[in-house]
Amino acid sequence: MLGDDTTTEHRLRLLQAEFTQPARTGPGDSRTPTRTEAPAPVNLGIVDRIRAAVYEMEQHTRSADRATAAGPVPADPASVYEWARQHTAHLDPERQQAREALIYRQGLEHALAMGDDSVIRKHPCPQCGCWGLYWRAAADRAVCVNHYCTDDAGTSTTWTLAQIAHRHIVGQQATARHAT
Ligand SMILES: [Zn+2]
Repeated sequence: MLGDDTTTEHRLRLLQAEFTQPARTGPGDSRTPTRTEAPAPVNLGIVDRIRAAVYEMEQHTRSADRATAAGPVPADPASVYEWARQHTAHLDPERQQAREALIYRQGLEHALAMGDDSVIRKHPCPQCGCWGLYWRAAADRAVCVNHYCTDDAGTSTTWTLAQIAHRHIVGQQATARHAT
């Protein structure tokens, strides 16, 4: 949505540029050990990830809007988000909210794929409201650090990216309504 300084589109372009180019010409990637024998190969995992993200957006858009044929997705992967918005702009607010939550969730995924888990800390815990969420990659979930924020079994509360994205979009739209 407007006001986000780093959009999902932008992150997808970064992901493409940084991780799927056979010859690195951009700024060095400190996370990758320096190798002298060969340029970094195309990261097939990232290529697949981008393809899956586009496919998910496409499927979501086509099932949300069965009445009109949306036509083919753009050749440029990052343009799929604008394409999805264009073809669902006439739908009811709930469906548009679901679309925005999906786009936002993919933005979080792209950031995590680039090794940036600071995006998780920018969201308050949905249960206790603290700013102590951190990303646990092995569980594929965000975990709350608050010792008192646990389930009935005493286990720390955890959240999926979809839950975080949904809360974020709902909160953002509530704020926008109050501002007018
Ligand atoms: Zn919490």
